[in-house]
Amino acid sequence: MSRKSMQLDEQVYNYLLSVSLRESQILAECRAETAKHPMARMQIAPEQGQFISFLIKLLHVKNALEIGVFTGYSSLSIAMSLPEDGHLDACDSDPEATAIAKKYWNKADVAEKINLHIGPAIETLDRLLEENKDNTYDFAFIDAHKPEYIDYYERALRLIRPGGVILIDNVLWSGNVADKNKQDEDTVAIRNFNEHVNKDDRVMISMLPVADGITLTMKN
Ligand code: CA
Repeated sequence: MSRKSMQLDEQVYNYLLSVSLRESQILAECRAETAKHPMARMQIAPEQGQFISFLIKLLHVKNALEIGVFTGYSSLSIAMSLPEDGHLDACDSDPEATAIAKKYWNKADVAEKINLHIGPAIETLDRLLEENKDNTYDFAFIDAHKPEYIDYYERALRLIRPGGVILIDNVLWSGNVADKNKQDEDTVAIRNFNEHVNKDDRVMISMLPVADGITLTMKN
């Protein structure tokens, strides 16, 4: 929800950005345009995008999966770090927000690496499974409809290879998950998701208070 890391005051957060953010011109433009969008809070934090780019290189990711594109900041962070022959399957149901994403993919010259699947992500993921793409992805990023997180995760876990990583966004949900009085649908869904992953012995996990909270899982 929040576009900056939790529990850092403005001064420390700005310092963190000033000494570490290496945002390309295209990412900066995408972020500036998205800031004017009515759903701007759905944008990931810039230091989170940089962390994703870091992971793509670190893990030598060639095939990536993204569930939740919005205006493209995370897909750009992924695709700009992929090798020449790298590929990203990106899922989203919003043709308007993803039109903005497409514009930046073209500007960054990464459009040919990205296959955008417009429609319900669960259907897209099921189709990829029908196409026998299990165990073929190196990395997946989940950041879409919160009540479907467990459904995305279960499919993504089949689609990634052993040793592959799934990064899930918004797992701390502005802290609401820790407040028993918060019982709205999204908060309950993320709470259930966090418990689901914590009990999952098919993966190693690490939850980090980056931006709105992220969980990294690595498939055994
Ligand atoms: Ca998010």
